[in-house]
Amino acid sequence: MTLPKLSAPTLPRPTVRIADVRRGLHRAVRLLTITTVLAIPLGTGAWIHHASNTTQRIDGIAETGVPRFPTPITALRAAVQGPPTVALQIGHLNAVDHPDELAVLRFSTGGRGGGIDEVDVNRDLAFALADKLRAAGVHVTLLDATVEPAYRASLILSLHADGNADTTRRGYKSAHVEPIRQRRDPWLLTSIDAAYLAAAPLPHDTTNVSRNMTHYYAFSHERFDHAVAPSTAGLVVEMGYLTNPEDRAWLADPQAPAEALYDGIMRYLAGIDRWHPSLARVSNPGVLDATAVLP
Ligand SMILES: [Zn+2]
Repeated sequence: MTLPKLSAPTLPRPTVRIADVRRGLHRAVRLLTITTVLAIPLGTGAWIHHASNTTQRIDGIAETGVPRFPTPITALRAAVQGPPTVALQIGHLNAVDHPDELAVLRFSTGGRGGGIDEVDVNRDLAFALADKLRAAGVHVTLLDATVEPAYRASLILSLHADGNADTTRRGYKSAHVEPIRQRRDPWLLTSIDAAYLAAAPLPHDTTNVSRNMTHYYAFSHERFDHAVAPSTAGLVVEMGYLTNPEDRAWLADPQAPAEALYDGIMRYLAGIDRWHPSLARVSNPGVLDATAVLP
């Protein structure tokens, strides 16, 4: 018996029809268009909703402290923009070098109390605070009394300590320039005040906020060239009275007041979705630029 000869089955050759490809492409483009059209308003809406809640978020964090984790927006901004730069101005340092437009301040060399000079307190505190910020991955620039024209940073804190003939006068106070230059100034004030007053054994000396504070020269870009750019959030802090023994004891060791201000800065940066201390794990320690203050 002879078996019929079997031939190997032949598979039909796949045929790619141009019309099918075109249809597939059209479908993909349509899907992409619909997704984009839906994503833009949804994304924009979510962003506007998130941004419009910043004041509430700042108020909440001012009360509860820095949240445990960064928001996805904070992480995204950190990845895109890198760490923020915090400028710390050492009040009165090198006052003699003020430019001509601020010549009147060349004699404003700071207060003194209990044998301690204000400028030394401001300097020690700035370096202690810089260490803490750098450990959290934040860049720090130290400034003396003169600010470069239109200077920019993520924020600037001007460090001062008070003095008064009345040695019973005590307390902490802060001010942003009036009228405010942008909405971040009050957010910075809320965050720093909450952290400092929670940590410091000092009362809130609100009644003695002076015009020199609410019209602080370094934030008054309309009056002086040597002032920070209006977009840079700025706060002047009077960390306590050197002429009061209790306040002076609090300021004598810079670590605790520096920690309080560090906490305030972190609350602000978390509130505006700019940074979170946990991001230090994925970034290097912040860079310190002290060229303006070193002899
Ligand atoms: Zn001062």
